[in-house]
Amino acid sequence: MSKFWSKIVHELTPYTPGEQPKLNNLIKLNTNENPYGPSPKVIEALQAEAADSLRLYPDPNSDRLKEAVANFYGIKPTQVFAGNGSDEILAHVFQALLKHDQPLLFPDISYSFYPVYCGLYQIQYKTVALTDTFEIDVNDYMQPNGGIIFPNPNAPTGRLLSLQEIERLLIANKESVVVIDEAYVDFGGQSAIGLMDRYPQLLVTQTLSKARSLAGLRAGFAVGHPDLIDALHRIKDSFNSYPLDRFAIAGAVAAMNDREYFEMTRQKVIASRERLVEKLNALDFEVLPSGANFIFAKHATHDGAELTAKLRERSIIVRHFKNPARISPFLRITIGTDQECELLVSALIEILKA
Ligand SMILES: *Cc1c(COP(=O)(O)O)cnc(C)c1O
Repeated sequence: MSKFWSKIVHELTPYTPGEQPKLNNLIKLNTNENPYGPSPKVIEALQAEAADSLRLYPDPNSDRLKEAVANFYGIKPTQVFAGNGSDEILAHVFQALLKHDQPLLFPDISYSFYPVYCGLYQIQYKTVALTDTFEIDVNDYMQPNGGIIFPNPNAPTGRLLSLQEIERLLIANKESVVVIDEAYVDFGGQSAIGLMDRYPQLLVTQTLSKARSLAGLRAGFAVGHPDLIDALHRIKDSFNSYPLDRFAIAGAVAAMNDREYFEMTRQKVIASRERLVEKLNALDFEVLPSGANFIFAKHATHDGAELTAKLRERSIIVRHFKNPARISPFLRITIGTDQECELLVSALIEILKA
């Protein structure tokens, strides 16, 4: 607390990111990073970028990245916004598109950054409970609102909502923006980007942090009607003209262009997930169906906090959420390499035997 702080600083409840341990002998299954490194073409592009040209500012609008995204999805660059990680894009989205007289709606169990942005930008919001099976029921969102946002697949549950259900929501909700946060969509979902031309209120955000292994680079994008994209540009250009540096632009373009590597690594993660789920089921875990690069799992008799602590004693870190109480029995486990998953399973066998 300081007398020098602006009033709003006293009132903020900042987001707590998952631990980034300083020790490097840990098996890190806590923040949904990709277990495989980025494409070798990304590394090449970054090396080429380490040059005299760094004295020059980057392209303020990241046009090359917009083109690469447009090319990947068969859309127009004017339908793409690029940002310094999708967290930054989401911040702009909240400020530019989701602050209205009616409350913003999002699930009670979801990405915990959403209420933080509401605090930062003083946006009214209302949470909508997931069903008993931790699913989003779009009928629950058919009520007055100033916007709707949720991840698909949802985090931290991993549960996927079908495109038909998303379309049903878009048909019923034409007067406010619907944001689908597709941070994990490449691990089992289908992007809602294909619906964009029919629904000008739809905005889709994606990140290169998860399926394209670039969490350390900070790059993401949003896709939607040019009017929505314009609003994001107005905020960006009132905040930071150069959010993506030269490395981020070069690396992200190379990652979007290397489809083969992207396909190979995401299929490996999906296959490892299916194997891990089977093994956990055999150990008496209930695992929610996951379309993501993580799973949400609860043991029949052992508590989530206890298992998290005991795994940590064995140098394996997973994520546990105390609140709300409904999810405190669960562990959120990032899918690692098969070897990491094996080590996790062996550690759990030991813990459960004790
Ligand atoms: C990881 C994640 C993001 C943010 O990704 P960055 O691009 O790394 O900022 C956004 N939404 C959800 C649901 C995520 O899990």
